Amino acid sequence: MFFNRKAAEEKPEDILINLEVYACNSCHGWMRKDFATDDLKCPLCGNETSMEMRELPQINL
Ligand SMILES: [Zn+2]
Repeated sequence: MFFNRKAAEEKPEDILINLEVYACNSCHGWMRKDFATDDLKCPLCGNETSMEMRELPQINL
């Protein structure tokens, strides 16, 4: 089986980078490190989050 993830969804300007995110342990909520809450609690349900790496489009602020 040959997978080509680039073909369908990736536009030339979409640069994916590995970012630290904080993913909730209780729900599907997560947040980028840059936009994390001060106490690193889930913005949706307030539970603990765990840091993990995800490939996400780069945001130019
Ligand atoms: Zn949550």
